[in-house]
Amino acid sequence: MKVTFPHMGNLWVVVQSLFESLGMDVVVPPENSKRTLALGAKLSPESACLPLKLNLGNFIEAAERGADTIAITGGIGPCRFGYYGEIERQILHEAGYPYDVVILEPPDGSFWGLLQRIRYLVGRKVSWYKILNEFLFSYRKAVAVDQVEDVIHRARPRFANPIEAERLYQEAKIPLAGATMNTELKAAVTRLEEGVREKELQTGKDGIREPVRVGVVGEIYTLLDPFSSVDVEQQLGHLGVHVARSIYLSGWVAEHLFHGLIEGYRSMSPYRKLAEPYLPHLVGGHGRESIGASVQFAEQGFDGLIHLFPLTCMPEITAASILPRVQKNYGIPILRLVMDEHSGRAGVQTRLEAFVDLLERASALKQDEVRKKDISFRLTAK
Ligand code: SF4
Repeated sequence: MKVTFPHMGNLWVVVQSLFESLGMDVVVPPENSKRTLALGAKLSPESACLPLKLNLGNFIEAAERGADTIAITGGIGPCRFGYYGEIERQILHEAGYPYDVVILEPPDGSFWGLLQRIRYLVGRKVSWYKILNEFLFSYRKAVAVDQVEDVIHRARPRFANPIEAERLYQEAKIPLAGATMNTELKAAVTRLEEGVREKELQTGKDGIREPVRVGVVGEIYTLLDPFSSVDVEQQLGHLGVHVARSIYLSGWVAEHLFHGLIEGYRSMSPYRKLAEPYLPHLVGGHGRESIGASVQFAEQGFDGLIHLFPLTCMPEITAASILPRVQKNYGIPILRLVMDEHSGRAGVQTRLEAFVDLLERASALKQDEVRKKDISFRLTAK
């Protein structure tokens, strides 16, 4: 059995080593690319959301490398994700890719069913003790990946040359992918933090202003996968923006696979309470979390928000109809970016540049006002 899985940003860093540690033969599909998307889009219904098209492209490219089994997570909420595994199986079989598809439903579907499928993938020889330990270690690896991403979000707008930040980012992922011990995870994050500290410009000195802060909310796949968002986070960082994201990989794993038994990095649980006045019930995906996270970012004084999701994503379309109320209540600008296979880098870049320009003017005015007030207070106090 040669097992593959869908690409979603840095997910491979965690999943490849998890599967290998359990003795599985793994085929990591090539990173998402135009070819991946073209292959997947050719087989997909036109109105299918972008992640389904990319997943199909991943599986075709993995089949070219010998994969015969797909491991994919399932869902039980009111969104199409719950049908993905089965739809993908049918599409691939009809197109001549006879994959065995193993759908790992979250434990609230059927805990026993989840265990049986894990056993099927792993084989009889590996003990449950080892399986549990490897899953827990992978979770810790996901936390380390999230920490690395956060350090890079902070670094990009504070580096004289943001390309340097990208180099540090790529270098940090290599030891994380190969790590087999907690100490190695910690060392990789610490090394990156030190590298960043050495190169960071000192804001507040020499006329260097604090970067504007933008919260990015929306559908999980588009948030975590740079190819499908046309590198929105990186583009913002290079425009001098400190980005914060509403959803992190380990937060999703903690909620869906460990069923909230462990607290995820930047947990999503506060979002539901914050969303309640606007959207008190589940709409599938992370629609409700997008509202709650937007409220949280606004209350934390962020300068703007970006709402990012794939075309035809039902939960986020619901959120998009409610977010103007958050925008009005908190006076925070929100830019909506809807992605599909026709989204181009140049178009997104132009919109980001205009948005950041607007935020920077407002932020500079605010910072000057605070400075003026401070000076006049000091003068009257003398
Ligand atoms: S959350 Fe949106 S993009 Fe993701 S599977 Fe559901 S409908 Fe598709």
